[in-house]
Amino acid sequence: MTLLAERVFSSDPAQQLRLKAWWFATCCYGAYAGLAFVQVALGLSPLWPTVGLFMTVLFTSAAFYVALRSGWNLRFKHDPALAFGQLVVGMLYFYCMYALAGLASGAVIIITASHIAYSMFGMSVAQVRRLVLISLFALGVTILLCSWLAPERFPWRVQIVTYLYACIVVPLIARLATQVTSLHERLRAQRSELKVALARVQELAIWDDLTQVHNRRHLMEQMQAEFRKLARKPSPLCVALLDIDFFKSVNDRYGHAAGDEVLRRFAASAKAIVRNTDLLGRWGGEEFMVMFPDTPTPQAEVALQRLRGHLSRLELSDIATDLKLTFSAGLVQVVPEDTLEAAIERADQAMYRAKTGGRNRTVVE
Ligand code: GH3
Ligand code: MG
Ligand code: MG
Repeated sequence: MTLLAERVFSSDPAQQLRLKAWWFATCCYGAYAGLAFVQVALGLSPLWPTVGLFMTVLFTSAAFYVALRSGWNLRFKHDPALAFGQLVVGMLYFYCMYALAGLASGAVIIITASHIAYSMFGMSVAQVRRLVLISLFALGVTILLCSWLAPERFPWRVQIVTYLYACIVVPLIARLATQVTSLHERLRAQRSELKVALARVQELAIWDDLTQVHNRRHLMEQMQAEFRKLARKPSPLCVALLDIDFFKSVNDRYGHAAGDEVLRRFAASAKAIVRNTDLLGRWGGEEFMVMFPDTPTPQAEVALQRLRGHLSRLELSDIATDLKLTFSAGLVQVVPEDTLEAAIERADQAMYRAKTGGRNRTVVE
């Protein structure tokens, strides 16, 4: 948004909307004022009362602008757009315009109806009903006063017909407004449901459901990003593949649910140990991967050793009394000619050697 637009519409999006609505309403009033002067030119309305009304519209519109632009409106927590105030003032204008229009007063009814309809969007059904009753009552009083005080300009037969039409049209418009409002509310509810669903999908896209560490897809994406970074600016990057030893026997002895719980505990404690800058994820089954950016092999090896020590003290007695959790790991430092797949393959082979070499160890390739 340009600076000028920010000055005119404010930088707060909610205030921007309110000020845009104000500009729209003011432009409408401008157009109506133009028509009022056409009535004067055609000899249907008196000049000075029309000028007076025009000045009043100008003054009150400016007062609303100051209230909205200064943030004074925010004091009204239930109606920060000052919609009710603007609606009442607008209704007063229209009844004055009606009184000034004389023989053309029937045309002003159209404006009144559209003004009521415009104000009704966003109101509750009860509020709309009240507004319909108040506006029809106020129109009735205006019509009565006009035909009583100036019967030659407001013939009562014409006034009665006009009023009866208004009594049909205004409630019809109100019904339309409430229907649009409820549609709008339904759309809003759907939008917030979609937001929740999208957040869930985004969560599923990067997190492993069982262990709440990153999933394989996210690991791959992050590693690809890390490889791209390395191409621009070389720095040591290590990748470790970890496989829990004899995990099948955990399932066989204690059941699959216990196996799941062990995986969860393993992941939670590994998560607590790795640095924020390292990336831990579940590669699949009982295999995990840790990526150590900006870390040479000796440091990554120390980190894995720390993890091993931590996991050996992991409390599992509530799942199985004699369970000791160990893992075998293959650790590689990425070399310039490595592709992502080649580096993972080397880590896998190193992990395999850790298995064949007796398990519970790290093999560095
Ligand atoms: P090794 O030391 O050679 O790695 O032996 P292992 O028993 O861990 O290896 P193996 O690959 O034979 O078995 C892995 C087991 O992990 C088999 C599979 O049932 C189990 N497993 C894989 N994913 C899950 C899971 O999500 N939940 C549970 N409970 N078990 C799983
Ligand atoms: Mg395995
Ligand atoms: Mg295993």
